[in-house]
Amino acid sequence: MQFIMLARNANLYSHKRLVEAAEARGHEIDIYDTLKLYMDITSHKPELRYQGRAVPKVDAVIPRIGASITSYGMAVVRQFEMMGVWAANESVAIGRSRDKLRSLQLLSRAGIGLPVTAFAHDTSMTDDVLDIVGGEPVVIKLLEGTQGVGVVLAETRRSAKSVIEAFRGAKVDILVQEFIKEAGGADIRTIVVGGKVVAAMKRQGAQGDFRSNLHRGGSASKIKLTPEERSTAVRAAKVMGLNVAGVDMLRSNHGPVIMEVNSSPGLEGIENATGVDVAAQIIDFIEKNAVPGKTKTRGKG
Ligand code: ADP
Repeated sequence: MQFIMLARNANLYSHKRLVEAAEARGHEIDIYDTLKLYMDITSHKPELRYQGRAVPKVDAVIPRIGASITSYGMAVVRQFEMMGVWAANESVAIGRSRDKLRSLQLLSRAGIGLPVTAFAHDTSMTDDVLDIVGGEPVVIKLLEGTQGVGVVLAETRRSAKSVIEAFRGAKVDILVQEFIKEAGGADIRTIVVGGKVVAAMKRQGAQGDFRSNLHRGGSASKIKLTPEERSTAVRAAKVMGLNVAGVDMLRSNHGPVIMEVNSSPGLEGIENATGVDVAAQIIDFIEKNAVPGKTKTRGKG
């Protein structure tokens, strides 16, 4: 089969692994820099162009869209969908997962476990906002943060209020969340492919850090999920409409709670921790499911 992977950096571990896995199975795969593709969006015969040439109509497109280029990346994926090219993750699903508030609302509506979370624009009712999530200690998060940057634990009401005021003063959107103390600075990262958990690891934060991000010095190990954790991860990916997803959860006293559902999960940490060939699982799934013109949303929505 012929695949196109949308990625800005061909040298990232995850991207190299996906290319290796595709080629090992006899497929052709080309990487296109998402931001260098351009298109006539009004054409009746939708196409994408790259360096002066039309991009071929391949069997599948594998979007690896970084958070900083979500909007343009989604337009590119949507254009592929309009051309009838099957996408490993559809543009609508990528967009949903990138909007933290919308994601939490969708997961909540589906009855999936979440930390109690509040969101407000105005800071005049901060006391009430803090009460909603059960009072301090609380976790305050930048809506646009990644890799644990902009995730703050406020242990007293005074510090919570000053952090909220500082963030709001800087005109950034935040959410306030119940602190899941019993998670003990660890979280669970699972990779869901085609409705199945293919790999799961536990990430433990560095000593004294409640954040478990590997980029912040956390360590990872393979774990066995409980049936409830497994089904929570699978349902979360399904609610977002993602075929390929990284689902992050915490172990709370009230069962697994979702932190985030990621449409372009990194493969390095989880492949190293679990020994699972996640890239091969993704390619196998695409191989079995890519059918031209079968994009469910056809770029709509
Ligand atoms: P990012 O997307 O920037 O990684 P997360 O929301 O995943 O931010 O938070 C980073 C880490 O902080 C999580 O992996 C988890 O270990 C910890 N954390 C986040 N929210 C909570 C919470 N409500 N309770 C306890 N720990 C949390």
